[in-house]
Amino acid sequence: MNDPQNNSPEKRDSVQPGAAHSCDVAIVGGGMAGASLALLLAHHCPALRVALLEQHPLRGPGAAIELPSFDTRATAIAAGSLQIFAELGLWPALREYAAPIRQVQVSDRGHTLGVSLDARREKAASFDGMLGAVIENAALGPVLHRALAATATRVIAPAEVAGVTMQADGTLLRWRGEGEERGEQTLHARLLVVADGVDSPLCRSLGIETREVHYQQRALVTTVGLQRDHAGVAFERFTDSGPMALLPLPKRDGMHRAALVWTCAEDAADQIAGLAEADFIHRLQRIFGWRAGRILRAGSVSGYPLKLSLAREQVRRGVVLVGNCAHFLHPVAGQGFNLTLRDCDGLARALATRAEQLARGQISPGELDLLQTYWRERQQDQLLTIGFSDRIPPLFAARNLFAQGARQAGMLGLTLAPPLRAGFVRQAAGLAL
Ligand SMILES: Cc1cc2nc3c(=O)[nH]c(=O)nc-3n(C[C@H](O)[C@H](O)[C@H](O)COP(=O)(O)OP(=O)(O)OC[C@H]3O[C@@H](n4cnc5c(N)ncnc54)[C@H](O)[C@@H]3O)c2cc1C
Repeated sequence: MNDPQNNSPEKRDSVQPGAAHSCDVAIVGGGMAGASLALLLAHHCPALRVALLEQHPLRGPGAAIELPSFDTRATAIAAGSLQIFAELGLWPALREYAAPIRQVQVSDRGHTLGVSLDARREKAASFDGMLGAVIENAALGPVLHRALAATATRVIAPAEVAGVTMQADGTLLRWRGEGEERGEQTLHARLLVVADGVDSPLCRSLGIETREVHYQQRALVTTVGLQRDHAGVAFERFTDSGPMALLPLPKRDGMHRAALVWTCAEDAADQIAGLAEADFIHRLQRIFGWRAGRILRAGSVSGYPLKLSLAREQVRRGVVLVGNCAHFLHPVAGQGFNLTLRDCDGLARALATRAEQLARGQISPGELDLLQTYWRERQQDQLLTIGFSDRIPPLFAARNLFAQGARQAGMLGLTLAPPLRAGFVRQAAGLAL
């Protein structure tokens, strides 16, 4: 186990070479899912010996962390997730990088009717006067990993898990490190948490299949500079090619900024991403309109192919899946990480309810009964959130009269019927259950 006082990455990574080690919980993947779960376990189940293995090196505190999770994207973190981070004591550190979402404006291109959700009106679904907050992933990563370094979690990085063998009392992981830890190492875990992202080789090696729906769309992501202040408004705009989101970001170098997620048809994505900055802005402004004022700048564009990918099994004896390897969603409603954080919170709390038995060694953290209880409690939220993220894009992409009528009626319903709107907002905020 780590010395919690010694947070230097070199010391944290040190494991006796060649020796077989054991822990109660091994988390494979130090991205948003794995790092968040490790923090929640340290908070709710401090007696558990937790190891986190990440194949990429983690830099020292303060420096950028080059993991897939912590790239150039920004994440809309819902009020419910902010509450979870606040319970972990992370809100003061996150607030420094957060742009509050005070209002969400949803609109349909070519129609005047739209829905506006306001934190002042939706008090029950807000946190500290905001519906949520947007944080750049490159800022979120170091906050999570700095906090993790201050816990007793054993962070092993770089450590690529090359294979796992199920045993009667848990799982034997084989991993490869660098430097002194070059060559194959082993670690025995009573509970294996797979958090290695979408298209998980680990799930495949465990024989866990996924159900996939390819949307034939790509999300183009970039940061734009705005002429005027966004005033904490997040815009969601449905267009012929797919939904577009413009999320508030903190001002930088005197420039008002927003994070753009532009969903477009797969066959148009390369052409749009390859446009020169002025042409990109021109096209964007034409489709998005002038709700956020004039767009002055656009940064480099990254693309993410979109699909729905759901693991057919999320728990089995000694194994649990969290994050993208369990469910990878369309980013339209900004739900993927928020759902994952609620799953991780649920898992840590489920283990905490059995803390005494775990401490006395009467049960294992990989006990099937315990994991199934966790899964049953998470099922309803997952079904609602996954359905919400999966059904909106086709409804808003369809230009036929029925679909247009349905979404206009939906927007009208949300505008006119406060209980309906409240339900919608609470689900989106991760506070529905
Ligand atoms: C365009 C876009 C926008 C999004 N916006 C939002 C949003 O606004 N709000 C929201 O809630 N969600 C959003 N999401 C979803 C969010 O990004 C995901 O929920 C999040 O990335 C989940 O991360 P993860 O940790 O499961 O996977 P990953 O980020 O893929 O992390 C997996 C980690 O496992 C490591 N790993 C893999 N294999 C091994 C191995 N064998 N050994 C050791 N380590 C290994 C990898 O190096 C990596 O660090 C968005 C997604 C996209 C695509």
